[in-house]
Amino acid sequence: MATQTQDDVDEVVPGREWASELYRIANDQFDRASSLLDLDAEFVTRLSEPRRSLVVNFPVRLDSGRVLGLTGYRVQHTLTMGPTKGGFRYGPDVSLGECAALAMWMTWKCALLGLPYGGAKGGVRCAPSELSVAELERVTRRYAAELIPVIGPDRDIPAPDMGTGEREMAWFMDTYSQMVGHSVFEIVTGKPVVLGGTTGRREATGLGVVYVTEAVCERIGLDLREARVAIQGFGNVGAVAATELYAIGARVVAVSDHTAGLVDPDGLDIASLVRWVEANGVLDGYPDARRVGSADVLEVPCEIVIPAARERQLTDENAPRLQCGMVVEAANGPTTPEADAILRERGILVVPDVLANAGGVTVSYFEWVQDHQRYSWDELDVQERLRRQLRAAFGRVIDAADRLSCDWRMAALSVAIERVSEAARMRGIYP
Ligand code: NAD
Repeated sequence: MATQTQDDVDEVVPGREWASELYRIANDQFDRASSLLDLDAEFVTRLSEPRRSLVVNFPVRLDSGRVLGLTGYRVQHTLTMGPTKGGFRYGPDVSLGECAALAMWMTWKCALLGLPYGGAKGGVRCAPSELSVAELERVTRRYAAELIPVIGPDRDIPAPDMGTGEREMAWFMDTYSQMVGHSVFEIVTGKPVVLGGTTGRREATGLGVVYVTEAVCERIGLDLREARVAIQGFGNVGAVAATELYAIGARVVAVSDHTAGLVDPDGLDIASLVRWVEANGVLDGYPDARRVGSADVLEVPCEIVIPAARERQLTDENAPRLQCGMVVEAANGPTTPEADAILRERGILVVPDVLANAGGVTVSYFEWVQDHQRYSWDELDVQERLRRQLRAAFGRVIDAADRLSCDWRMAALSVAIERVSEAARMRGIYP
């Protein structure tokens, strides 16, 4: 057999393991930001791919007795900044490439906010709406058990994401605790308050979206109470953002979930919509608004569009039709690079995801700190610290945008990449 050389190794396409549309987007953004910084090639290589990833296949017994084979993932993007942090999601499209992209964005988000974490993300490819509560519990407990080799309260701390919430975090925490023999509240964040969760975590991402939007509006001289807002997604993030905006007097003219879009140019009654969803599960069937398609809400005339559903919703197809002045990215990766370029050209301001939805991980950090201290803060304290931390991050973005003459996405990523590469340089290379 011919001896293999390093040249043969290089024949393998780098990054092929992570290949996915979302990873292409994350990498495209990273490449553009690192070229603005003239980042040393060593750090480009080290930061463009995840440091560690785990793929697990495991069986779960359904209520019917049938056994379902599921695939789960956990990707840790960088181990330079401390333990890794990021949610885990349940969905039929969850993949290694998607988790790799989301883990990278978590690194930038944590670094921009000055949190002592690298980024991680995970998930299980499944259809949660087709599983019973008992089945979801078995999926969560088995997934937690499969992750034991790579997680820990000072190694990698999961949190909720799409399709997961407090309930799953409680099961996850309990499973980890059973395995190590004592309660370890700080293994996950986003838990119920009675199990070491923090007040304010459930609302944190949506509330953070509103705090950032307020800061941006002050900066550009727009009165948020006069603004019309359209929100795609009515889950953990979208419904809370809608409720907060409604509470401060903004006019929420459109909302959607995966079942329906609802429009009322005079402003929707968000309190009534929240009650409807609590009773019916979805927006579909709500009587007091004009019905449109789920994606159509992005195109209604308004000042602010908030995509808060899922990735890749603003594309080169619909970006030319947006009728707003500003997009606030509550979801992760909602804008493709092609749409980003169109929005830039059209003068539509984009508040990037790594800033706009960073409220979630920031309050997760507060929860972890409180768990470690065995000391709880009150809600006002949490909200005030959150507002301060997000405003400080926005200040860093504005400064970098001025210094580098770039848009806010590139500015936010530059601040983060500079911080992480500086830490990597100072730590050096082992051995
Ligand atoms: P969720 O599962 O609670 O809600 C998602 C919502 O989006 C649901 O209302 C769903 O019906 C809707 N949706 C799904 N597909 C849609 C479509 N095609 N059109 C319109 N609506 C659609 O999830 P979430 O926790 O609110 O997360 C939403 C986004 O925010 C995700 O991108 C997630 O990664 C990001 N995010 C969440 C958090 C958090 O703390 N939950 C933190 C940071 C970022």
